[in-house]
Amino acid sequence: MAVIGGGIGGLAAALSLLRVGVDAHVYEQARALSEVGAGIQMSPNATRILCRLGLADALASTGVKPLAFHQRRWDDGRTLLRAPVAEVMEAAFGSPYYQMHRADLLDALSSAMPAERLHLGHRLKALADGGDRVEVEFENRVRISADALIGADGIHSAVRRVVFGPESPRFTGCVAYRGLVPAEQLARLDLEVAVQIWMGPGKHFVHYYVQAKRLVNFVAVIERDTWTRESWTDRGEVIDALAAFEGWHPQVRDILGAVSETFIWALFDRQPMARWTQGRVTLLGDSCHAMLPFMAQGAAQAIEDGATLAACLSQVGAEHAPEALRRYEALRLPRTSRIQGLAEANKTRFHLPDGPVQQARDAEMARGATDFSAPAVAWIYGHDAGLVEGAS
Ligand SMILES: Cc1cc2nc3c(=O)[nH]c(=O)nc-3n(C[C@H](O)[C@H](O)[C@H](O)COP(=O)(O)OP(=O)(O)OC[C@H]3O[C@@H](n4cnc5c(N)ncnc54)[C@H](O)[C@@H]3O)c2cc1C
Repeated sequence: MAVIGGGIGGLAAALSLLRVGVDAHVYEQARALSEVGAGIQMSPNATRILCRLGLADALASTGVKPLAFHQRRWDDGRTLLRAPVAEVMEAAFGSPYYQMHRADLLDALSSAMPAERLHLGHRLKALADGGDRVEVEFENRVRISADALIGADGIHSAVRRVVFGPESPRFTGCVAYRGLVPAEQLARLDLEVAVQIWMGPGKHFVHYYVQAKRLVNFVAVIERDTWTRESWTDRGEVIDALAAFEGWHPQVRDILGAVSETFIWALFDRQPMARWTQGRVTLLGDSCHAMLPFMAQGAAQAIEDGATLAACLSQVGAEHAPEALRRYEALRLPRTSRIQGLAEANKTRFHLPDGPVQQARDAEMARGATDFSAPAVAWIYGHDAGLVEGAS
């Protein structure tokens, strides 16, 4: 199996494949693996798989377990909802919820990967599915042939373009400032160990500890009609971010104002696809279900994809790859499409203007009709993507 892309999705998929005895190699365009300097939430549906891949200790060494999801009102900081996480979720779903630094997660994955199966500096140039083999060529002129090919090459996926034709990702109307602040700089705020989500008109702000509580990660999301720059990410001015959050609670402004530099990201997504698979080629992760980050599920779903794919392939063997890839798609596509839809809906929900609709939302949250209680999230966090009927 050739896995194109050595991001979180590609590496996790390769490890899942190797675990069930499938001969997998990862081909990554970059000369060194790297992740952006930012945080990531790993929910139990993802950590269940990562722990099975032998990464439990690595995750525990730097991952932070949030005590709660704490949703708050943008100006006065009033609690709209506080759903317990650490013990409740772990007890309900049998695996931990972690807040992590992305680099720590990528390190854990790449350290588990046998070096001879990770090919850096290999940028996909061309592929051809000949029916019984997939022929692949990289820009460094290396050619390989594989039983099947997995496009785990992210939202700009070259594999997707070759197999399903060109189609641009969609600007979601949101940009995000992201930053990491040394926790000691914010000690006076006495931040609780929780994922705090501040919701206000046209914006929201999320922060949580990462890296054994040494750093505080924040994401400040703002609605914007257009994104005119060519690049999707650019240096952002802290002063502009502060201006956008004028009038917000002092805690939000203190965190935002504590960084000396920040980056601004245009958030893009893609509509659910009708198909991911053609013959011996399929897609995985952001290449097929890029979503807004408002469910914190993009990478988690990519990790799930790899586990299901491995389970399907282990049943029939790589020589019957087309059948396994079709089954993988059938099992995964409805679930990831549903989560894509929820992430999009959260844009509206989180960003409601002050007024009656927002008050109705807040009243619903106060009643405990929550979207984050263990029973409400069981279908996401309780799912075991490695369990496929008939798989060993
Ligand atoms: C602000 C923000 C917050 C988020 N928070 C969360 C969260 O809390 N929890 C969560 O689960 N998800 C979160 N996500 C989503 C998550 O980051 C992505 O879904 C995830 O990183 C996608 O992983 P991937 O491996 O599919 O793609 P990528 O990480 O994009 O990896 C693709 C890899 O393929 C390589 N590649 C590309 N083209 C080629 C080629 N032609 N040849 C070879 N290699 C190639 C790239 O170099 C890259 O290494 C967030 C996203 C954003 C923007």
